Amino acid sequence: MSACDRDSYLFLDIDGVLNSERFLYKTKKARDEVIEWNKELRLRHALDPEALGRLTVIMDRCRGEGFNTKIVMSTSWRLQNTVGDFRRAFIANGFSKELALRIIDKTPYRIDGDCTNRRGLEIQQWLDARWGAAQLPGAAATIPPRICILDDSRDFGHLLPHHVLTEWGDGLTDEHIDPCVRLLTLTTYSNLP
Ligand SMILES: [Mg+2]
Repeated sequence: MSACDRDSYLFLDIDGVLNSERFLYKTKKARDEVIEWNKELRLRHALDPEALGRLTVIMDRCRGEGFNTKIVMSTSWRLQNTVGDFRRAFIANGFSKELALRIIDKTPYRIDGDCTNRRGLEIQQWLDARWGAAQLPGAAATIPPRICILDDSRDFGHLLPHHVLTEWGDGLTDEHIDPCVRLLTLTTYSNLP
């Protein structure tokens, strides 16, 4: 495989993944002191450093297996924030600068679809723009892009086999690390769970 054949893509949610009911309850006082209209501080306070530590483990393990994992933000926070905003907020919560540079893009926003597939359609549109219809996941592509969708929602339609489900109560926990790494280091889609 060539270098770019070792690429993989993590589509990342924030609410219910990089934060949780437990975390937000614990930090309520600090958040209440944040000026509501300060977009940058609001995003920074929405991120749980412990969850970002687990994201670091996922990224490091993929790199250890020889894969170049990139992050595409699929969270609704992308509607008000740029890639640069995400990088700065992640770094402010202990994510390394080097890994923050792996946040490369955001998914497009669509109003079609429904509660079963809307975010799946947005991710598919991002994949289409990058690879074209001939190499979509599930198609008979020789080397399809490796993708993992990390999210506490389920509206991913045909991309659900690439989804790792978290819970709003606890967000990203240790038990999610292995399934994410497995999807991000697939060598063929026959490995899909
Ligand atoms: Mg969410």
